[in-house]
Amino acid sequence: AVQNNPDTTLITATAPVSTATHGGRAKCLQRLVRLELPVPRTVALSFSSVHQIAEGRMPDIEAVLGQFDPNSLLCVRPSSEDPDWGGPGAVLNIGMNDARYVDLSDTMGVEAAAALYLRFVHTYAIHVARLDPDVFDDIEANGREGLRLSLRAYEDETDESFPQDRGEQLSAVLRSMARAWEGTSARLLRQAKGAPADAGLGLVVQEMIPGVGQGECGSGVLQLVDPVTGLPQITGRYLSQSQGRDALGEGVAALYLEKDPRGTSLEDVAPEAFAALKEHAALMRSKLREEMQVEFVIESGHVHILDGVRVSRSSRANVRIAVRLAEDGIITPQEAVMRVDPHSLNELLHRQVHPAAERDVLTTGIAASPGAATGRIVFTSAEAQASAARGEACILVRSETAPEDVRGMHAAVAVLTEKGGMTSHAAVIGRGLGLPCIVGASEMRFQTRDRKLTAPDGRVFKTGDIITIDGSSGQVLAGEPEMLEAALDDCFQTLMRWADAERDIGIRANADTPADAQAARNFDAQGIGLCRTEHMFFDPGRLTVMREMIFAETSSGRAAVLARLLPMQREDFVQLFRIMEGQPVCIRLFDPPLHEFLPTTRTGQRELAEALGLPVSDVERRVAAMSEYNPMLGLRGVRLGVTVPEIYDMQARAIFEATLEASKEGAPVVPEVMIPLVSAKREVELVKSRIDAVAAAVASERGKTFDYRLGVMVETPRACLRAEEIAPHTAFLSFGTNDLTQMTYGLSRDDAGRFMSAYVRQGVFAEDPFHVLDADGVGELLKLGSERGRKVKPGLTLSVCGEHGGNPESIGLCRALGFNYVSCSPFRVPVARLSAAQLAI
Ligand code: PEP
Ligand code: MG
Repeated sequence: AVQNNPDTTLITATAPVSTATHGGRAKCLQRLVRLELPVPRTVALSFSSVHQIAEGRMPDIEAVLGQFDPNSLLCVRPSSEDPDWGGPGAVLNIGMNDARYVDLSDTMGVEAAAALYLRFVHTYAIHVARLDPDVFDDIEANGREGLRLSLRAYEDETDESFPQDRGEQLSAVLRSMARAWEGTSARLLRQAKGAPADAGLGLVVQEMIPGVGQGECGSGVLQLVDPVTGLPQITGRYLSQSQGRDALGEGVAALYLEKDPRGTSLEDVAPEAFAALKEHAALMRSKLREEMQVEFVIESGHVHILDGVRVSRSSRANVRIAVRLAEDGIITPQEAVMRVDPHSLNELLHRQVHPAAERDVLTTGIAASPGAATGRIVFTSAEAQASAARGEACILVRSETAPEDVRGMHAAVAVLTEKGGMTSHAAVIGRGLGLPCIVGASEMRFQTRDRKLTAPDGRVFKTGDIITIDGSSGQVLAGEPEMLEAALDDCFQTLMRWADAERDIGIRANADTPADAQAARNFDAQGIGLCRTEHMFFDPGRLTVMREMIFAETSSGRAAVLARLLPMQREDFVQLFRIMEGQPVCIRLFDPPLHEFLPTTRTGQRELAEALGLPVSDVERRVAAMSEYNPMLGLRGVRLGVTVPEIYDMQARAIFEATLEASKEGAPVVPEVMIPLVSAKREVELVKSRIDAVAAAVASERGKTFDYRLGVMVETPRACLRAEEIAPHTAFLSFGTNDLTQMTYGLSRDDAGRFMSAYVRQGVFAEDPFHVLDADGVGELLKLGSERGRKVKPGLTLSVCGEHGGNPESIGLCRALGFNYVSCSPFRVPVARLSAAQLAI
């Protein structure tokens, strides 16, 4: 009857068993049966059958029992669709009763028989009869006496003797497991792990191989790889005279599997069984096309395979496993590419907190730049530099960061700020430098002036105290947990090469400095998609010159400062062009929120006054005069270019002179020049005519011609709407989705961090729109802008250069809109390359 009923099926090579109807464990067991592995006889109960059991309709239990030797013991284990959704615990040794106990005492010894019976009585009492576990707490005896007392306790509590009939026992076990799955708490738990509301549970009834008895008996698990590194290495545990997952229990004196100088191994006590087990595991790897953890039992030296589950593993192990499976010809390179979650690459590209380390979490802020680092707290950039000079790792803790802090950021191993969001200064610079960074840690109290940082639980940290920043999770940790180094090894490179072979959208990097550009090259970016030239002036030596330029009151004064800036800029660009070796380099003309360049503190203003030879009052007055109510919507980007055109003239000249300089050494450089924050066609016309004039002047002065491409950054909703009239003047449109998001939502990119988590928690936004591109709103503007632009200029190059460029979800949108490339921080380039490949496969 069982064979013909798909609801209760004996698992054979051809039985109608599927993951969708009987669960993952049942399906895996069938695969193992097909491989002719020594799997104990198993009957699978389908989701619908288990559901019926929960409702009180029992299948034909006699037919199920008919599949097994009448003297065998049975176990029941859960088989949900996805093993991560959990399920009720396994029940072992069903069928133990007084008579079997006597029989088994003869064959395996009294102690072993008593242990089997006792285990079943306890499990049954607690999980099926639902007795309080402390009923057995007072029973100290084991073996025969423990069994006698436990059976008596069972009788006392239930007023019934312990059930002796195997069928009755099995029915009760099935009923209790089926009902446990339907209970509210189990349902909520699995839904939290992503299971649908109506996820089904299958059950498998399997013949027990006891794992206790005469000869070498026991149980354990084995896998062929190290779960943290993914390197081939037999790992696992084995415990003689044990069942189920006993060998994994804490404090258990389990054996090693392979010969090991540290102690006895399974290979020592049962070499043939070990050899067979290794062979089975290798067969499972190649036929199930996955690294599997093998659950096994040894019975008098013979191996039985009870189950196989995918090895749970770290992100770096996952990459290595996928690549090795493909290199061994077990899966295709495309499959390997598909098996790695792009987000998980962040863990490989950076140091991280060891997955097994204990975490003393002080608070969780916004994970703004991935990676982890431990260091001593410093509260100012000067302290950070002093600390670095002493060779001491430090963490820069600031309320928020400004250009003055960039040198401190360079000196620190990580940054923690109270304010800010994904696109705030600290976050952008941190990602560019590959520096772990947490922003918006607003639950901590930052008293930077008093050199104090107070955690929500009241713990106070001062200068020199050691904390750890986990920029991948946003957790601030006390102390120094164990770390795992970055893993840019051969496996990683191989996976990336396979990904590039599939990808059909370009990936560039946002890079402002030679170091960024080098990182971009190392990660195989196809050029620079955004060089934020204002960032080139954050260097302390240059910041003062920059401020002089901003402060210049007359045109001739400004011209003098610009003449000093020109060679610096030219040298910057020559270096970028050289490093990029003919790859495209897109340089954005100056786009400063000017206030970011001005000193805010009294000391800063005094220092500037000194440098400029002005009275402090003058500096104060100028700072006040230049302060804007809303600097992000003020004199920024092209607005500065239109009102103070000499700045862009200088930059254009530096770019073109550098172009000629760098072209001397190799292939001609074709620079891309980009105008930021455009909202009207006329802005483009004005800037373009001046830049064309500078190009003509440089060409005639040097007697050499060169090409360049002029483009427009689309960062305002109006530029999207009017793309049709902007496109004729431009070779490319690059969408600056940071500002575009800010302006579409009317949401400050620097302040949103303060309430973003509340907004996401309450479902106002599904995700932080500065992190994952808002496909419905901002995405609609991208669509309008790109369609309108290409309508008048079909060959128009389209790209995204906001922080979203590195985000897998956002890349999907750009690809669907036919964009040519995305550009993101260098450290996100590999993530982008992999996600783009997955979209194309
Ligand atoms: C943007 O706005 O998306 C952009 C790339 O420019 P920035 O972040 O420098 O404002
Ligand atoms: Mg911008």
